[in-house]
Amino acid sequence: MNQDQIEFNKTLGQKQKEASVKGCLRGGDEQAGCAGKIVQAHSIQRGKILASIADGGSGKVYYLGLAPADDMTSMIPEFKLEGIKKFSTFSGFCGWHDKSIFQPIEDVVFTATAKQKDIYAYRAAAKELHANLESKRLCEIQLGDKLGVEDFPPHLQAMLPLILQGLVEVPPFIKKAMLEGAAKQQIKIRHKQCEHNIAELRQICDDLTGAIDHDHPSEFEHVYHSLEGACPVACCTSYIPYFDHDGNRIISEQDERRMALSRATRCLEMKNVMLNVFPEAGRTHFIFTFSKGNQTFKDAIERLLKLDNGSLRIGLSNILLNYAENSAYGPNYIEENFSPEQITALKEAFSSTVFDPSAFRKGSINLFVEAISVPPSNR
Ligand SMILES: [Zn+2]
Repeated sequence: MNQDQIEFNKTLGQKQKEASVKGCLRGGDEQAGCAGKIVQAHSIQRGKILASIADGGSGKVYYLGLAPADDMTSMIPEFKLEGIKKFSTFSGFCGWHDKSIFQPIEDVVFTATAKQKDIYAYRAAAKELHANLESKRLCEIQLGDKLGVEDFPPHLQAMLPLILQGLVEVPPFIKKAMLEGAAKQQIKIRHKQCEHNIAELRQICDDLTGAIDHDHPSEFEHVYHSLEGACPVACCTSYIPYFDHDGNRIISEQDERRMALSRATRCLEMKNVMLNVFPEAGRTHFIFTFSKGNQTFKDAIERLLKLDNGSLRIGLSNILLNYAENSAYGPNYIEENFSPEQITALKEAFSSTVFDPSAFRKGSINLFVEAISVPPSNR
């Protein structure tokens, strides 16, 4: 890392620290029923799952992340190492709720009961809710008292591209002010999107909590599948599936634009999908959770599950690489099973959707290799 990169990481780290949100999502505003301090809760379980993915004794897993390029003009995707004590954690539960809510999936063998699937889905939604609360706060810190101020009127917004192309000339100080206005406008849009996401995710969490705690009928359903072989790959995420595993659009561009402007008020209209992937007891498990109103997604997953074993594994890999930011991989598993060219392709598939969720990159790599070369003694 050069000095610029170090400074960049430092500033980013400070901003993120200021924006951190510590509170129990289950306790609500009153923190009802909470006990103990707010903990760093794992969204991917440390003892059973992350420890089995980390290479023997190292206690570290790979994840895909972004780092500033040497010239600082772009962000490049990388496999990064992180200790399993920290990886996938978020400060969204008190000690008591973290222990009691997740006990049925942490201390009990996974047998794909309805309750276990609900709890896995709930954790993915809660993690995403917490991430959106922090993103919203980060926008507020960046904008300060300019949050509610409309200082970049539409006629100036329309003129900016012409100025940037050199078709319209304005004094440099005006151009600078307009560029700043455009940057702030982006943050305001992001802030609005966070508010929509937070409202939807709160509703999803409430629905699943009702099912978990009180056996209320849920408006969400699961599709569960497991593959032969415990691959050292895990994820816990929530995403909007604009594309199926094969890169075909399943949310139209028109719907995508509409979704950016307004939020779904009923669970049945929601497009969010919660995805959990984890190795346990010699198999790799996949739980997709989605609204009962999302028939298009259900059809797409059912089409995927009908494919032959090889194509199915590639399809699942494409979904994971394009949509799952919060994923852990065994470092030796990645280094030993994939060529440098394949590793580059994995990173590129990941980065395409990080920058633009509607840019799906279809690849032909199978992340779920059947014959695992890591000896059992190291896993
Ligand atoms: Zn609590």
